[in-house]
Amino acid sequence: MLHKNSTSQEHSSDTFHRLKFQSPDSFHRELQSWWHTQRSEGLSPYADWKDALKGIFFLLIIGFGYFQFLQATDSFFRALLWSSCTSLAALLLVFNFGHDASHGAVFKSQKKNYILNRILFFFLGIDGFLWTIRHLRAHHPYTNVIGADPDVSVGKILRVSPNQKHLFFHNWQPYYAPILYLLALPAGAWMKDFRLMRNNNTEKLFGYRMTKADKFWAIFFKILHLGFWILVPYISTNISLGKIFVIYFISMALSSATFIVLAALNHFSEYAEFPEHVGTNLMPTTWSEHQLRTNTDWCANSHFISYWVGGANAHVAHHLFPNLASRHLVNCTKEISKLAEKRGLPYTNLSFIDGLRSHIRFLVKLSSASYVKEIK
Ligand SMILES: [Zn+2]
Repeated sequence: MLHKNSTSQEHSSDTFHRLKFQSPDSFHRELQSWWHTQRSEGLSPYADWKDALKGIFFLLIIGFGYFQFLQATDSFFRALLWSSCTSLAALLLVFNFGHDASHGAVFKSQKKNYILNRILFFFLGIDGFLWTIRHLRAHHPYTNVIGADPDVSVGKILRVSPNQKHLFFHNWQPYYAPILYLLALPAGAWMKDFRLMRNNNTEKLFGYRMTKADKFWAIFFKILHLGFWILVPYISTNISLGKIFVIYFISMALSSATFIVLAALNHFSEYAEFPEHVGTNLMPTTWSEHQLRTNTDWCANSHFISYWVGGANAHVAHHLFPNLASRHLVNCTKEISKLAEKRGLPYTNLSFIDGLRSHIRFLVKLSSASYVKEIK
């Protein structure tokens, strides 16, 4: 279980990259002091009964959708409709609870968080534990740092930072990026996870050596995933195995696109920055300011949206308070934006549509070789 390492600046001391940030500033101290006041007044950092109701709601949709999928007998399109519905509900369940559990923020018991995280991610085929390793040890501490944050270090195929070298095919990235977005979850499940499990790559990249048990459970949940999406539907319906695979890939593609759009709004826009270290390992700002500069919010004042997307709209707050259940993020955002304004630090909150437009403009700008530095 990795959640113990997921608080603020301590990341830099126990990760492979060991980048360091400037000393905490008054913004960081004031924010921490505000949070300590909230805690001393009895606020629980974990999920509550309203979150439990939401979880039950998503599970009911998954159960109903899956039942309908299995009842589709020989109707390809009916099976596809219900399979997609099941997959999207599962994605939202992971967004809400798999993510919070990876941060140890659903239950007080960290063992329960670990089990919940592993079970929920099986719906998407991604290993929850491997995802947690890279999320806590690299994405959170080194957000948007090329070479350290695996979420922006997507290889040469996409240019997602002005600091990244431009290659000739990036000219067309606004056209082919959507295709890659559709493939994100299957690629994560069937390529990235296996790459991480080979040759002690988790140790080389994230400073964690996988045990035999880690690998066993990773494979176990992948087999369970195939059983759920392929074997059971194949046995229960008269649809051919080839068509079942097509249904599976389309369902996963829809969830992939939803997942990437939500993540892209947070980190890949004209308003997000991509800082680099100064000299060997020193970052140019404090860790808190780094989070303000590398994360973008959308509709961050909406409790309603936050409730259904697991706080993905209030992502700055999530990065500044990674161990908090998502139900607190909108309230934290109000304090963060107020303090950021007071200290003259940037904080960005867009509408969903503006965030989407900004992401598209961002892809277009980075497709040009002449676009090399500061996005803003
Ligand atoms: Zn997170």
